[in-house]
Amino acid sequence: MTLAVPTLMAAVAACQDEHTRTTQPMGATAYFTHPDCMRHEMGAGHPECPERLSAIEDRLLISGVDLALTRREAPPAALTDIELAHGRMHVAALRGLTDALREDMVAGGPTHTPLDPDTLLNAHTWDAALRAAGAAISATDAVIEGEFENAFCAIRPPGHHACRDKAMGFCFFNNVAIAARHAVERHGLKRVAIVDFDVHHGNGTEDIVAGDERILMVSFYQHPFYPEGGSVSNASNLLNVPVPAYTRGMDIRELVEMMWIPRLEAFKPQLILISAGFDAHREDDMGQLGLVEQDYAWITMRLKDMARRFAQGRIVSCLEGGYNLSALPRSVEAHLRVLADV
Ligand SMILES: [Zn+2]
Repeated sequence: MTLAVPTLMAAVAACQDEHTRTTQPMGATAYFTHPDCMRHEMGAGHPECPERLSAIEDRLLISGVDLALTRREAPPAALTDIELAHGRMHVAALRGLTDALREDMVAGGPTHTPLDPDTLLNAHTWDAALRAAGAAISATDAVIEGEFENAFCAIRPPGHHACRDKAMGFCFFNNVAIAARHAVERHGLKRVAIVDFDVHHGNGTEDIVAGDERILMVSFYQHPFYPEGGSVSNASNLLNVPVPAYTRGMDIRELVEMMWIPRLEAFKPQLILISAGFDAHREDDMGQLGLVEQDYAWITMRLKDMARRFAQGRIVSCLEGGYNLSALPRSVEAHLRVLADV
C-alpha cells in the first residue's frame, strides 16, 4: 500500500507533463480588455454602448469558454505606435478636445463633444481609445513572441472606420491598422494580413494601408451602405469585395473560399489580424446581411487553417461592430471556441 502513493504521484506527474507538452503554446488563447473600454460612451441609446462588452463577458462566463482563455489587461498604447497609422495632428486634436471637454464639464458644460453625428467623445474616450489600441499592440507582441498562439481583444471604441487623419463611424484610432504597422515596423514582419468581416466597409483601414505592400487587406462588406464616400482604392494590396444586402452565409463562404483564400495563400502572411465585426449577423439591424454564428465559426476555422500553414498559428482578432446584444455575444463565443479549440 505504501508503494501505491509514489506510483500514483508519478503517474499524475507524467500525465501533467504530457498535458503541458501537448497544450502549450499551441492552442493558447489570450483575451485582452480593460475597464476603461467600458467607460467610453456616446450618449443614451447609442448602439455602440458599454453593454456590448458586458454581454460578451456574461456569455463567456456562462458558456465556460472563459475557462479556456488567459485574461490580460490592456496597457495604454504609446503615441509613437498610434502615429505609425495616424497623423500627429489627428492624435493631438483628439487629446486637445478631450482636455477641453474635461475642463468644460468641471464648469458645468456638456458631457459629450460630437465629432460627427454618430461619433462623440466623453471624458473617458481618450483613455479607452489608448487601451483599445494598446490591446491590439500588446496582443500582437504576445503572439509574435510565442506567448500565445492567438488572441482576442474585447475592446471599444472600435477602429476600422478611423482614417489616418479623421475619426468617424464610432471609431477614433484604427486598432488593427496600428497593430499591423507595429508588427512590420517594430518586429520586422514582412507580410501581415488584415481580414475584415464587419458588415461595413473598413474605409479607415483601407485609407491607412492602401499601397503598403507589407500589408494585405481582405474583406467583404454590404454595398451600397455606410460609409458613403469612404475611400475606395484600387491599390494592389487590397481585396475588398462589396456584396448586396440580404447576401446569406453560404454565399459569403463561397466568396471567402474563391476570393480570400487564394489571395491569402499567395501572400503567405506571417500574422493574421482580424477586424472582427459581428454586425453582418442576420439578427443585427445595423446591416442587412444574413450571417449566423456557424458562419463566423467557419470563417474563423478557415483563417486558423491559413494561420497554422503560414503564420505559426498567429491570429490577433479585434472587436469592431456587432450591436444586437444577443447575437453579438453568441457570435463572439462561436469565434472564440474555434480560436481556443473548445
Ligand atoms: Zn460595422
